[in-house]
Amino acid sequence: MALIVQKYGGTSVADAEKIRNVARRVTRVKDEGKQVVVVVSAMGDTTDNLIKLAYQVNEQPGDRELDVLLSTGELVSSTLLALALESLGYKAVSLTGAQAGIHTDSSYSRARILRINPKRVVNELEKGNIVIVAGFQGVNQEMDITTLGRGGSDTTAVALAASLNAEMCQIYTDVDGVYTADPRLVPSARKLKEIGYEEMLELASSGASVMHNRAVELGAVYNVPILVLSSFSDSPGTIIRKEVSMEVRNKVRGIAYDTNVSKVTIVGVPDHPGIAAAIFEPLARANINIDNIVQNASIDNITDLTFTVARGDLIKAMSIVEPVVKSVGGTQCVADSTSAKVSIVGTGIQNAPGYAARMFRTLYEQGINIQLITTSEMRITCIISEDRVKDAIQALHQAFELEKVQP
Ligand code: ADP
Ligand code: ASP
Ligand code: MG
Repeated sequence: MALIVQKYGGTSVADAEKIRNVARRVTRVKDEGKQVVVVVSAMGDTTDNLIKLAYQVNEQPGDRELDVLLSTGELVSSTLLALALESLGYKAVSLTGAQAGIHTDSSYSRARILRINPKRVVNELEKGNIVIVAGFQGVNQEMDITTLGRGGSDTTAVALAASLNAEMCQIYTDVDGVYTADPRLVPSARKLKEIGYEEMLELASSGASVMHNRAVELGAVYNVPILVLSSFSDSPGTIIRKEVSMEVRNKVRGIAYDTNVSKVTIVGVPDHPGIAAAIFEPLARANINIDNIVQNASIDNITDLTFTVARGDLIKAMSIVEPVVKSVGGTQCVADSTSAKVSIVGTGIQNAPGYAARMFRTLYEQGINIQLITTSEMRITCIISEDRVKDAIQALHQAFELEKVQP
């Protein structure tokens, strides 16, 4: 029997009425004669509020307890959805991540899924149940609860879709698809009918929160078609898949921004072999993701080195890097959390040198200073002051004529 996995984000299950709305949508799939597995996020701002509570009782809450606490948000929404479905006369069962067989490593707050044992989910489906799985959580070898990182319910959904061989994974959210830029900041942004995994992964990794980047990665690896659509309308949405039409390639497809950026600059480090390893190895051991790294050409064998991390990792990163910098004879270590990243993304970028120039000129014309530049095959990223992000993405959207994209 055909199987669909649907995921509903926090805004879509924010209150009782919205949960009843989701229940009605879920029953449509069941009425078409398909099996359905539903993954839910926590209601509204629950996760943020739980984090705040944890910090009110402990300035440095331990990772293990924090993960158990955060996982409770998704338990509330999953059980309420099961109850709402029962009240509509449908058989439904809610499962925790552990019950759904989602096994992860032990990196609390950013755990990776190692494997899924979908036996229980399959059993419940065979009994005729709609299965509701609490998103964003799994269980490690010690049977401790782990969470997959903010926005991780998308990853739960795509991973389940892959392991259950679902026809497709539908991501229901509060926008009706993937746009050329965040439609909340760029009113002229256009909805994309389709986008390839690679470009979507690059957009998501550059800050487009509409999809969790690891979900897109899993979609690509297991070839799961992902449909992003609104839980509040019947608009057709955006399909993320392998093959996209030829004519939509080779141009800028979207613009992303990310304000969750802290910059660490190490000043006056000796330029000799082993220094970068001495700095970045302990950061890797502490499981801190380093985003961009820029090292200047050295003058008199002394150089500066800048890297970026997520803001939540800054204090830990500084506590690791400062003693290393001292021990290798560096001058100082400066932290800055007033920056943000803006990126243009598209498969054609590497073959079109004019795109970088156009991006820099556009920012210059807005009077925006570029602090750092990094590029990849499919992306050019500039680090700028956070308070200029909106101006930057609106100007870039216009400069690359993205308002002309056909919906
Ligand atoms: P959910 O809680 O449903 O997972 P998210 O807040 O994580 O929802 O993601 C949806 C939000 O992503 C939208 O409200 C929108 O502001 C933001 N967003 C950022 N970039 C884009 C984009 N390119 N297209 C659509 N939405 C985007
Ligand atoms: N509730 C979690 C969060 O707010 C996971 C998710 O919504 O995907 O990040
Ligand atoms: Mg999300």
